[in-house]
Amino acid sequence: MNAKRILAAALAPTLLLAACSTPEQEDDTLNVLASFYPLEYLVQEIGQDRVTVSSLTPQGGEPHDLELAPAQTKDISGADLVVYQSGFQSAVDKAVEARTPEHVFDAGVYATLALTEDDGHDHSADDGHDHETDPHFWLDPKLYAQAAQDLAGELSEVDPEGAEQYQANAQSIVDKLTVLDQQYSTELATCQHDTVVVTHAAFGYLAHEYNFNQLAISGIDPEAEPSPAQIRNVRSQVEELGLKTIFFETLVSPKVAETLAADLGIDTGLLDPIEGLVNTEETYFSIMENNLTQLKTGLGCA
Ligand SMILES: [Zn+2]
Repeated sequence: MNAKRILAAALAPTLLLAACSTPEQEDDTLNVLASFYPLEYLVQEIGQDRVTVSSLTPQGGEPHDLELAPAQTKDISGADLVVYQSGFQSAVDKAVEARTPEHVFDAGVYATLALTEDDGHDHSADDGHDHETDPHFWLDPKLYAQAAQDLAGELSEVDPEGAEQYQANAQSIVDKLTVLDQQYSTELATCQHDTVVVTHAAFGYLAHEYNFNQLAISGIDPEAEPSPAQIRNVRSQVEELGLKTIFFETLVSPKVAETLAADLGIDTGLLDPIEGLVNTEETYFSIMENNLTQLKTGLGCA
């Protein structure tokens, strides 16, 4: 057996366990429960070998409107730290409130961008969710860096012995995010278009930070059916602005985007809101790099 196969064999049971419940603690690492991928990634990168992290949202699952199994709700009380984002996944909000875990890190504070009509946000809809602000803050490297720093602080409070390590690991993520932010600013500075058409309104932070508009076919909820009026609006704007690409994403069906693009005789491209990993060889950073390449094509940047 070569080294790779041994590693794969050793990892397989862990991954399996992580998918259905929090692994039993057999070591003295911190048992951290994260509610979905971008938060899980931060915990993993900052905590490294001092933490065992699992995600409430299954790998490749769509985190909006996640439903929790009873075992997961129980895991929330047993975790050393729960990292979630209030206002994004109401089942997690309710479980955290009911189970009152010992330590909680709430990333809801970073999601401050107000939603607009262009996001396809229907202000009259009352589905019991907090949809007044855009939840996808992690797509803004500056806000994500802020979260990394604050999370290192929280981990240090829970596990003071690891404080130095947490700070150093957070700093290296912050440094990488600073480079990423500069790359986005530079490469999106001079573009032919100022609008991208996307399937769900996940890119508000990128649009806001790097000065373009997102035109969403189906609002903030990726599962929502777009209204005929919204489709008409997208169609006429694409024609008026001479756009050449409609973007679909990884975790949501590309059907609407493909049909519309075919009707209009233009291309489709992939923009990933990084709500979950489909391919585990990817990371936040590799996806953000690819998103930048796609945005440059869609916006026609020099
Ligand atoms: Zn989303």
